[in-house]
Amino acid sequence: MLGAGFGGLTFCQHFRHPSARVTLVDRTNHHLFQPLLYQVAASGLSAPDIAQPIRSILRRRNVVVLLDKVVDFDLANKRVLLEMTTQSYDYLVLALGGCTSYFGHPEWEQFAPGLKTLDDALRIRSRVLLAFEKAETVCDPEVRQKLMTIVIVGGGPTGVELAGSFAELARTVLRREFRRIDPGQARIILIEAAPVVLSHLPPDLAQSALRQLRNLGVQVRTSTRVKEIRQGEVELNDGEVIQAENILWAAGVSASPLTQRLGVELDKAGRVKVNADLSLPGHPEVFAIGDLALVLQKNGKPVPGVSPAAMQMARHVARIIDDELTPGAGRAQRSPFKYRDKGTMATIGRSAAVAMIGRLKMSGWFAWLAWLFVHLIFLIGFRNKLFVLMQWTYSYFMYRRSARIITYLPPELDAASRAPR
Ligand SMILES: Cc1cc2nc3c(=O)[nH]c(=O)nc-3n(C[C@H](O)[C@H](O)[C@H](O)COP(=O)(O)OP(=O)(O)OC[C@H]3O[C@@H](n4cnc5c(N)ncnc54)[C@H](O)[C@@H]3O)c2cc1C
Repeated sequence: MLGAGFGGLTFCQHFRHPSARVTLVDRTNHHLFQPLLYQVAASGLSAPDIAQPIRSILRRRNVVVLLDKVVDFDLANKRVLLEMTTQSYDYLVLALGGCTSYFGHPEWEQFAPGLKTLDDALRIRSRVLLAFEKAETVCDPEVRQKLMTIVIVGGGPTGVELAGSFAELARTVLRREFRRIDPGQARIILIEAAPVVLSHLPPDLAQSALRQLRNLGVQVRTSTRVKEIRQGEVELNDGEVIQAENILWAAGVSASPLTQRLGVELDKAGRVKVNADLSLPGHPEVFAIGDLALVLQKNGKPVPGVSPAAMQMARHVARIIDDELTPGAGRAQRSPFKYRDKGTMATIGRSAAVAMIGRLKMSGWFAWLAWLFVHLIFLIGFRNKLFVLMQWTYSYFMYRRSARIITYLPPELDAASRAPR
């Protein structure tokens, strides 16, 4: 099993064949609950609140956990090449997830970080908090404004959540603590190429999200494209250049680049075009699940890259392998994977969210409550659920955020702090 994200972990929790040996490989030692990453970036939660050691989660399962990085595949000889060892397999399940995509502009990454890992979140948090600290020390109003401007590119769920959360951080939390600047004047600008944010939602919910964002003071620029990103500035298609100390990229994702090593057909986003049973064409013993698999639904649309889809695919593959290893239980044909859409939701801020569950549409406080409930249920580990609930309650009533210690210093500041005084 490669990858201990939503797909990999669910597979290990559901596959219980007594005579099978399962080896799980991940390049990190923790499972990360990505839906709450933006809260780490925006100082609402600490890193350990949304991540847990893989070994600890699987301590009661018969699974060998290896902290190693997948570098290549030798499908012909049924081997996976890791950085430190090579592993042979009878069945292989790929759940290596995705990465941030800059739509053919990889050079933008250095100026506009994406949000995918805990390190990304901690780096973004430090940079944003440092920008406010710097603003408090400078006198030039233009420099101040640049330091207090955050541009977020991409109006999907991650962009909307980041924008709402940073707007609240500035206006309700930092505002009461700075004396020389007014963090309430911070500019949070959300740029989206489509005419609406959250374009996967029905128009009325997308409009509601737009209203809720504007109520929080976010400047939303829809139908606007980014032409160029440079150090500290974003150039838009209409020629406007926005000076911003922090530019965050939430516009695109693609599959793990390792899919290019498989020698099978991929789509534009690098996802593997799998068979109906989620196996690789020509390799019935290899499966691809989660964000790196392209699975089409009946309506011709791809199964979305969301955690419930990765978990459903994992359970499907676990059932197939279990059946095939059980004498007499094996079905003549493997069943095709069917995605069950359980709804979609996005939070915008305090008491502000949108949600669609089946045909039920919600926005505002009820959607926000539903969002809190669902995320607490799916968060792994009792300790994490308890701590996150406590943090949310504390923030809700006290208008404060506790995870605001700056530990990561950008290289230029780090070098300065180490220089002899
Ligand atoms: C910021 C953000 C917010 C999101 N919000 C939501 C949300 O609100 N709701 C929702 O349903 N979905 C959300 N998603 C999407 C959801 O997280 C993914 O769909 C889901 O994680 C996919 O599961 P997966 O198992 O395919 O991949 P992942 O969960 O990404 O797991 C991949 C695993 O593979 C490991 N890995 C990668 N490369 C290697 C390598 N070379 N060697 C070894 N290990 C490797 C990684 O360390 C990781 O543990 C969000 C994603 C992000 C980034």
